[in-house]
Amino acid sequence: MSDRKLQVVPLGGLGEFGMNIMALRYGDDIIVIDCGMMFPEAELLGVDIVTPDLTYLVENREHVRALFLTHAHEDHIGAVPYFLAEFDVPIYGAPFTLALVERRLEEHELEQGPKLRTVKPLQIVEAGPFRAEFIHVTHAVLDCLALAITAPLGVEIHTGDFKIDPTPLDNDPFDLHTLADYGKRGVLLLLSDSTNVDRPGYTESERAVRPRMEDVFNRAERRVIVSCFSSSVHRLQMILDISAEFGRKVALVGRSMISATEIAHSLGLLTVPDGVLIRTQDVMQVAPHKLTVLISGTQGEPMSALSRVAVDNHKHVSAEKGDTVVLSSRIIPGNEKAIFRMIDHMARRGADVMYGTMNPPVHVSGHASAEELTLMLNLVRPRYFVPIHGEYRQMARHQRLAEHLRHSGLKDSFVLETGSTLEIDENGARKGGKVTVGRVCIDSGTIDEVVEDVVIRDRRHLSEDGIVLPIVAINKHTGRSETLPEVVTRGFSIAEEGSDLIQSSRMVVAKTLETSSPEEMGDWGVMKEKIRADLKRYIAKQTQRRPLIMPVILEV
Ligand SMILES: [Zn+2]
Ligand SMILES: [Zn+2]
Repeated sequence: MSDRKLQVVPLGGLGEFGMNIMALRYGDDIIVIDCGMMFPEAELLGVDIVTPDLTYLVENREHVRALFLTHAHEDHIGAVPYFLAEFDVPIYGAPFTLALVERRLEEHELEQGPKLRTVKPLQIVEAGPFRAEFIHVTHAVLDCLALAITAPLGVEIHTGDFKIDPTPLDNDPFDLHTLADYGKRGVLLLLSDSTNVDRPGYTESERAVRPRMEDVFNRAERRVIVSCFSSSVHRLQMILDISAEFGRKVALVGRSMISATEIAHSLGLLTVPDGVLIRTQDVMQVAPHKLTVLISGTQGEPMSALSRVAVDNHKHVSAEKGDTVVLSSRIIPGNEKAIFRMIDHMARRGADVMYGTMNPPVHVSGHASAEELTLMLNLVRPRYFVPIHGEYRQMARHQRLAEHLRHSGLKDSFVLETGSTLEIDENGARKGGKVTVGRVCIDSGTIDEVVEDVVIRDRRHLSEDGIVLPIVAINKHTGRSETLPEVVTRGFSIAEEGSDLIQSSRMVVAKTLETSSPEEMGDWGVMKEKIRADLKRYIAKQTQRRPLIMPVILEV
């Protein structure tokens, strides 16, 4: 085996949305860039998160030297705990990125303390034959880094996620100079973000959101309920500041919203205006025109705070007629159904909902549009180019965008998908063999435990613990369930027909129905998930078993 070759091994995020992870290998040394998760699609009922299959790295365990993190988004750091369960190597990232990694790790019990190493822009880290320099870039969260990796055959640039924001809110601009310097000296390979290649022109600056948000506050006569990603600290700061200016108190609602603001505040990245924050439980005491609610759950996740408010099932917060609800975030592909369902519920409550590309848009993208991507290509002028982070069509388009560089040094470009590799040596670059990749579904409540394909998991549930079918009949006219739900089991040995467990399970399902709002009852997707979650918890507690639970709802 020729050791003088560089292998590019995408283990996630190429040809799919999310779950970004890339390995670079030179001889016997491997470094890994990012280790993200993906939100599960609706058909993966009961799966909390999807993480990349790390088999390739596990099989090459002794060669893995380090993990580099570009920024704090979940699709780049969400699977770090699962990586750490296998590898005891240093993890490099900016302070905010590593603070969010640490928060994730609190939910996991690791045998040894992780080697988290904070880095700054322009710092250099060596790992085997790789020398990585960190370059500050602008995106949607704080502390974003691109990587310039010097290896024996030349320099590789990995952009991470970026847009070229000329007026970032923290006044810390994209370090184009350092990138251009590398470009001048010669870059072997560019790996660049393809997410927004479909959009012409330039992505707007984060600053553009402010006047629009002020406009919303100007017009709002009652509560303003804003949801954005809790990691978007700029956005949180903006909402806090505008609320203070408008004499509104702010309540933080949702676990991730509260912990992200605590982290940002403790790192000195977020300034909370004096006396602005109130406790969640005091929300309904504040006059509606004096209140802002900052709440998590932009993606319509069924159990998130915002989804609960939408169906009027939140302990402390409700949305009422005349309230303004702002979804200041992107609609992640695959989540459209859940998000629009949530918006419909809000609209039924009489709230005015602003989202997506409505006018004025209350969100700007964090990803570079076509002109910025061209600028990146022109500055770096790589010999080889591989578009990353995107569906196949986006990467293919990004490849075409680079064609003009053929006159200025570009030798070849490759659209790779997760699992297909690229090899570069002195003779050139070519596609290499395939490696094992896949999606690992992590079930709620089994944080470190189940790490298997969903099909295998279902089969295992079935063979070991059987299946439980809660059957609910809903009266078409009243929208309520008027008889005690049935619970049918197969292969679930503990529960015989008519046994205590079956009876008590029926009561559990009935209780779930009783405590649900009419709107939740009208939404079978939400109801199935609630029934499944409640019954799963109950059965696990009673029997330590995890049968497959498939709620059935019938209209009669
Ligand atoms: Zn990102
Ligand atoms: Zn991303």
